[in-house]
Amino acid sequence: MRLTVIGCSGSYPGPGSAASCYLLEADHEGRTWRVLLDLGSGALGTLQQHVDAATIDAVLLSHLHADHCLDLCGFYVMRKFHPSGAMPRIPVWGPPDTAARMARAYDLEEEPGMTEEFDFQTYEQTALAFGPFSITARRVVHPVTAYALRIEAEGRVLAYSGDTGVCHGLDDAAREADLFLCEASFLEGVPNPPDLHLTGLEAGATAARAGARRLVLTHVPPWHDAATVLTEAQEAFEGPVELARVGTTYDV
Ligand SMILES: [Zn+2]
Ligand SMILES: [Zn+2]
Repeated sequence: MRLTVIGCSGSYPGPGSAASCYLLEADHEGRTWRVLLDLGSGALGTLQQHVDAATIDAVLLSHLHADHCLDLCGFYVMRKFHPSGAMPRIPVWGPPDTAARMARAYDLEEEPGMTEEFDFQTYEQTALAFGPFSITARRVVHPVTAYALRIEAEGRVLAYSGDTGVCHGLDDAAREADLFLCEASFLEGVPNPPDLHLTGLEAGATAARAGARRLVLTHVPPWHDAATVLTEAQEAFEGPVELARVGTTYDV
């Protein structure tokens, strides 16, 4: 699998990055399959610097906060009104109310909303198979319904935290992952609200507890010093750890 960071800014776009979006690719049956993990504010623009956005096969949303889903609106316009013709309907996995939420986001009637462009589907308890990917979603703790994603292909495992506090669901998703892409939105030493986000230290401790092999920290908000988040994570995790950067591709 190849993971490319499209947007990694936490909670809102920063000066050098869109909000959350990651491109995951794997070769299968003679072609490259491409899925997006989240499609947050500003990410659709950056995506086009890396790949033809028309070649995306599916979108996996971790939750419905604006910084993780709002650029589905532009993606809907591109797919529906492209002068060379409407593009095929593709699956969008997300929380149960994703279709209605995205219709409201674009100010569409709920019927049909975006359902002619996107086949909205919910995550099940069991793994779902899509092309080369086996995708498992685990509920995590956040003010809205939110999932961590565990994606396997070619015998390798990528885990993505979405937004979450410390919880068993996150530990499960990250278990022995080859690459753990984990949010780190908070700093230690201040009274952070519970069940919302992780500090760098908590991200590192989660990676250590889960036996992840490599940790990439993401979703650091522009108002924090990312170097501090990195230092915190290194205190808790002895393996390789780095900050996500726009345009970086990882071979998982
Ligand atoms: Zn977020
Ligand atoms: Zn969120």
